[in-house]
Amino acid sequence: MGEFDLIETFFKRPPRHATLGVGDDCALLAVKSGQQLAISSDMLVEGRHFLSTVSPAHLGHKALAVNLSDLAACGAEPKAFLLSLALPEVQPQWLAEFSKGLWALADLYQCDLIGGDTTRGPLNICITVMGEVPAYQALLRRGAQVGDDIYVSGHLGDARLALEVFRGHLSVPQSVFDTARLRMEKPTPQVALGMALRGLAHAAADISDGLLGDLQHILKASGVGAEIHIAQVLSTMACAKSSGLPEEVLLPLCLSGGDDYELVFTAPEHQRGAIVAASEAASTHVTRIGKIIASPQLTLLDSQGSSVANTFSSFDHFKTP
Ligand code: ADP
Ligand code: MG
Repeated sequence: MGEFDLIETFFKRPPRHATLGVGDDCALLAVKSGQQLAISSDMLVEGRHFLSTVSPAHLGHKALAVNLSDLAACGAEPKAFLLSLALPEVQPQWLAEFSKGLWALADLYQCDLIGGDTTRGPLNICITVMGEVPAYQALLRRGAQVGDDIYVSGHLGDARLALEVFRGHLSVPQSVFDTARLRMEKPTPQVALGMALRGLAHAAADISDGLLGDLQHILKASGVGAEIHIAQVLSTMACAKSSGLPEEVLLPLCLSGGDDYELVFTAPEHQRGAIVAASEAASTHVTRIGKIIASPQLTLLDSQGSSVANTFSSFDHFKTP
């Protein structure tokens, strides 16, 4: 099978929103009046972002999910994406499963695959996603205000737990591993929540490199600091109790584990009811984990309210520990 048969067989479908999809030199996308286009790109490299043990269907899902998570962080509604693939060889079975995982998630959000690039090379998947957001309503990192509550969506730490089990650093019961592995390989982007937070949240980011690191981006961009209650953060971890692991092992997974694809966001206290309503409307739970403060540092507090040393570091591709 050649390059063009491959594209035709696995990656071409009539677009729903786009004016022109796969098959020409450019795709064409019309943006509705009063909307802005939100654009983001994420690359997945074997050995770096995923293990060779991952199923192709989960890989197809995850490649799009991590991109949709960036749209979610901005409160944008997914519309279209580009897929650039480097493949060592053409394996129709692998491509069939990969595209199945990809299309299932794309269909869920009616997000059109409108083009991309296909080349031979070490396995590498790069997706660029585009979404719409009403003009000037995008959630940004820079809007956090002193006194804001800080929230996270869903579960933190479970994906990193699975990675540490894969690496042989931790061991947990099989059923716990299965749950954690699914969180790592098949994350759910918080698209509905992001959209529901428009006009409510002052600032937001998605958690890809670990809570503390991604929260730091909000703090830096907004010129503020934060106090975080570590027990609240730990309470979000789905596998915490059933893992049988002690708190000192679990805490770094939640605070700086990464690969969570949840949202961290801030909102004023008077919006607490509205935030609960937004999370219910989006069928996800949110946990209030702290407050924005004026002093520009990130302080961790234990259940007695005493500060705990912050020795947790987030993932950075180029930093050596
Ligand atoms: P060009 O050489 O003009 O850049 P290509 O020959 O690489 O275009 O691709 C042909 C068409 O197939 C283009 O419309 C391109 O966007 C699309 N395409 C290429 N690879 C993919 C892919 N992996 N998924 C979806 N569309 C693709
Ligand atoms: Mg061309």
